Amino acid sequence: MNVATCPFCRIIRGEQSAEILYRDNSVICFEDIRPITPVHILIVPLEHIESLNTATAEHQQLLGHMIFTARQMAAGTRLERSGYRLVINTGVDAGQSVLHLHLHLIGGRAMPFQYGPR
Ligand code: 5GP
Ligand code: ZN
Repeated sequence: MNVATCPFCRIIRGEQSAEILYRDNSVICFEDIRPITPVHILIVPLEHIESLNTATAEHQQLLGHMIFTARQMAAGTRLERSGYRLVINTGVDAGQSVLHLHLHLIGGRAMPFQYGPR
């Protein structure tokens, strides 16, 4: 998945449509195309970083900004009271399907945090 074919880079460049909610000079937020909860927003850096594994020390401010942006997206909405979850899927076991780093902001219903036997 390179910057030419990456779906998130295509959205950032305006080549692919998305419900864009926020954009600044380092991140973009848009609705997930297949929401798993009533609220499902993706917080995506403009820079094509494949995953958390390829983020470097230079990205620390950006990583913090992604989390704070998620908090800002939740601020003033019902999520602030009802709760929400931030998720960064990384690698195969986590089921990362888009190889462009992104933070999921999910909420709007109770979300049990349980997996099967190991
Ligand atoms: P991952 O599984 O990599 O953590 O999450 C990728 C997410 O991106 C999935 O929830 C998927 O529904 C979403 N997604 C994949 N392609 C597109 C797209 O083209 N547009 C939007 N808005 N979301 C996408
Ligand atoms: Zn990309």
